[in-house]
Amino acid sequence: MKACVFHGVRDVRLEQVQEPQIGPGDLLVQVGAAGLCHSDIRVYLGEKKAKLGVIPGHETAGTVVVVGSDVNDFQVGDKAVICPILACGRCYFCRRGLRNRCPERTTLGYEENGGLAQYMLVPAQLLELGHVFKASVEMPMELASLTEPSACVLNSLETCEMEAGSSLAVIGAGPMGLLHIMLARSIGVARIIAVEPMEERRAFAKRFGATSVLDPQGDSLEETVMDVTNGLGADAVVVSTGRTEAADLAFGLVRKQGFVNLFGGFPPNTHMDFDPNIVHYNEIRLTGTQNATPEQYRRALNLLSVNPQMTKINTHRFSIDDSPSAYTVRLGAEGLKSVVLFPDAA
Ligand SMILES: [Zn+2]
Ligand SMILES: [Zn+2]
Repeated sequence: MKACVFHGVRDVRLEQVQEPQIGPGDLLVQVGAAGLCHSDIRVYLGEKKAKLGVIPGHETAGTVVVVGSDVNDFQVGDKAVICPILACGRCYFCRRGLRNRCPERTTLGYEENGGLAQYMLVPAQLLELGHVFKASVEMPMELASLTEPSACVLNSLETCEMEAGSSLAVIGAGPMGLLHIMLARSIGVARIIAVEPMEERRAFAKRFGATSVLDPQGDSLEETVMDVTNGLGADAVVVSTGRTEAADLAFGLVRKQGFVNLFGGFPPNTHMDFDPNIVHYNEIRLTGTQNATPEQYRRALNLLSVNPQMTKINTHRFSIDDSPSAYTVRLGAEGLKSVVLFPDAA
């Protein structure tokens, strides 16, 4: 089968590899869509680790084509959406459903083969954890492949206690910042302020539902945010970039007792200076979120199924044959998200 294989920093190649052999507890999935995200680009650039020789891709949807003899919950033809976290299932975090915090977790697409290939092995361990979800047959593969990034965003919004009528500022309107805007909109967040230096991305933010769109280089951010939040500041500020200036900015936009969520990863060895009294006297709840719980995956899939417009986040579509270009195109900041589509499976 054809697969995209990671060989090191700035080195991914399209190769012909053996189709995976499945055991009695496994599934074989014919991949329909596999999204690429910023963390894949960070691996490509050497900022984040992955195993050499691994098939990347952790945002995968596909069709079940072979079912192991011991598997009862899936049938050939089911549309499967994968939460790529292989967790121990027994530790403090796993017992509380927080599989994304399991210290022993590994992830498909980083340590184990992921979805940038014609076929993908879904190991028994993943099925036992309940990390494989069924999408309806009508749901387009491309939409279903947005479950992983949407679940990460749902975790961010829920950690920040966003609800109908809340106000949210998102600093950084890249693909994940824009998914925050779309999902916040869909759960009824009333005020959504996007802060983004690139004009193209500000235009996307507006189109995807931001109620105020600001340029950090020209606009008076604090004034505008206070203005649209009755002088309170935003209930939550999500920092969706790996830049410390953006994190610093967040403290000026959040209301007292509001949340500042450091959603994006930072380059290794980043340090940040801030006045701790801002956090102390304003009782700011400074937090981070990374990935999501299986329960959030399940609900993200439900939200996507009624928000088909969310595939607009994908501006670049590739076939497996030109999947290495899905990486290089993301090095420039033009456009939003890349996805590899397999028309045969969809
Ligand atoms: Zn991702
Ligand atoms: Zn665990």
